[in-house]
Amino acid sequence: MGIKNTRNTLRKSLSVFRYSGRAINLVWTTSRTLTLVLAALTLVAGLLPAAIAYIGKLIVDAVVSAAQGHLVTGYHPLVYVGLEAIAVALLAASQRGLLVCQALLRALLGQRVNILILEKALTLELRQFEDSEFYDKLTNARREASVRPLSLVNRIFGLLQNALSLITYGVLLIKFSFWAVIVLILAAMPAFIAETRFAGEAFRIFSWRAPETRQQHYIENLLAREDFATEIKLYQLGEMLLERYRNIFTQLYSEDKDLTLRRGMWGYLLSLVSTVAFYIAYAWIVLEAVASKISLGDMTMYLTVFRQGQSTFANALTSIGGMYEDNLYLSNLYDFLEEKVTKPWGEATKGLFPQDGIRFENVSFTYPGSSKPALKNISLHLKPGEKLAIVGENGSGKTTLIKLLTRLYTPDSGRILLDGLDLQEWDVDVLQKRIGVIFQNFVRYQFTVGENIGIGDVNNLEDKHLWQIAAQKGLAQTFIEKLPHSFQTQLGRWFKGGQELSGGQWQKIALARAFMRTQADILVLDEPTSAIDAQAEFEIFNHFRTLTQNQMVFLISHRFSTVRMADKILVIENGEIIEQGTHQQLLETGGLYARLFFLQAAGYQ
Ligand code: ADP
Repeated sequence: MGIKNTRNTLRKSLSVFRYSGRAINLVWTTSRTLTLVLAALTLVAGLLPAAIAYIGKLIVDAVVSAAQGHLVTGYHPLVYVGLEAIAVALLAASQRGLLVCQALLRALLGQRVNILILEKALTLELRQFEDSEFYDKLTNARREASVRPLSLVNRIFGLLQNALSLITYGVLLIKFSFWAVIVLILAAMPAFIAETRFAGEAFRIFSWRAPETRQQHYIENLLAREDFATEIKLYQLGEMLLERYRNIFTQLYSEDKDLTLRRGMWGYLLSLVSTVAFYIAYAWIVLEAVASKISLGDMTMYLTVFRQGQSTFANALTSIGGMYEDNLYLSNLYDFLEEKVTKPWGEATKGLFPQDGIRFENVSFTYPGSSKPALKNISLHLKPGEKLAIVGENGSGKTTLIKLLTRLYTPDSGRILLDGLDLQEWDVDVLQKRIGVIFQNFVRYQFTVGENIGIGDVNNLEDKHLWQIAAQKGLAQTFIEKLPHSFQTQLGRWFKGGQELSGGQWQKIALARAFMRTQADILVLDEPTSAIDAQAEFEIFNHFRTLTQNQMVFLISHRFSTVRMADKILVIENGEIIEQGTHQQLLETGGLYARLFFLQAAGYQ
């Protein structure tokens, strides 16, 4: 048992080096020149201290023999003093150089790792973003990982430098006594093991608390962002949120404090062991010098070696503790970067029957982690150019249907066909080019008006002519022209000169964005006019057929004035289609649709 434990502890301690190779590789591929310079300077900075100690010995010995009136056998003591001055200057240069290299590498590496993380984030599926555990991974990776690789590499080099110094010190010492060296090494072990242990604990605390940290960030966001300010103020939420923020901190702090105190105490006690060992050896050297068994110069050198040996050793310990921590953080980063993404495998760019449009065949879907299906046995068919309206109460599954259609999620059973070919077999890029969509929670980019519209078609992002056409179709043209810089007006409040729009104006921008996608023959509109004034809505839908002449439209709306214009209407309840037909047919059936229609119509009388 004892042996097994020791072995485990040792293995754990050695795992310090697990990610070192990858970290070095990352740094190396980021900048070869800087890495080489860093290595060379490390070498110089590692070797010089022992050389300086040795020169010190030469000085003392030369002084002693000169004072005793012996014929000077070596050089004049001043020559050695000069030599030492040069060595010290070199050491200072190399240390400064190391700092400069590190600062440069830190910037490059931080950027590189952030890009790696963001590139990875782009390949993720919506499902992964909605998974809170996964989100924690992302948060952890983003928070620390951009500084950790360099920190690890710095520590590796620092450790090498310390090791070189310690070895050369050892070489100087070994002339004195082999055993002294062994005892010093052994005395260092407890402190080393304690360091790695506490670093491990610190990391575990850090990973566990990702949810709390995220909550804290969220509250910070709520309190500090303008979009939330109105509600926070009027509902007087400030104090309550601040209190929550404080409570999370207090809880985290008490864990931190405990660990920091324990770490400090144990670290001190165990390093005391090595300090005692150091000083016993120290006393031994002094006694030997008193007995004239070693020269005064030797004694001076040993004493220097001892003093510096101890601080070098303390540095090495800190490096190792830090390396362990860095390694753990990097494991987090690589966990995230290596998270599996299911590559979309479809390659088709054309369907089998181009005139077939869209078919849902018995499509069912349940959200991951949910027990109730969001959609059950949905079947429908929409031919090119046809317009479909989907009606149903909140939570009935309308948006989910759209998410399946746009391939943000994959059906659990059944198929969705476009032009006779399963969506899964389509090349994702080709498929997405064919779809223009406005979601209820469309994004309000803090860019210019023009860009906000242009985003609907990345390839023509800057095409001013297309902006105008799209803006006209979305009825946004009139108010855009009244803005201070027209299409060049910066939107949102984050950046200088930003202009805020009303909800309805934003929605018109979103509509224009969808019309920007001229290549798209499928238009998906999830409550596109909920915030738009009655006049504008009337105009949009009067022209709707002309605007979307060649497009299939999926329209979700609660406004029957809009819905009734569709060729087909789908009524969904609890994830199932309960009625299907034209406005007229559904009214004649006298079902749910008819009831809701008359209910709304009565409200207007
Ligand atoms: P609608 O658009 O008709 O208001 P949705 O399609 O958004 O309704 O939601 C249908 C059902 O699926 C609801 O019961 C909702 O709670 C659930 N749901 C929606 N989005 C998610 C999600 N990302 N994860 C889990 N369940 C969801």
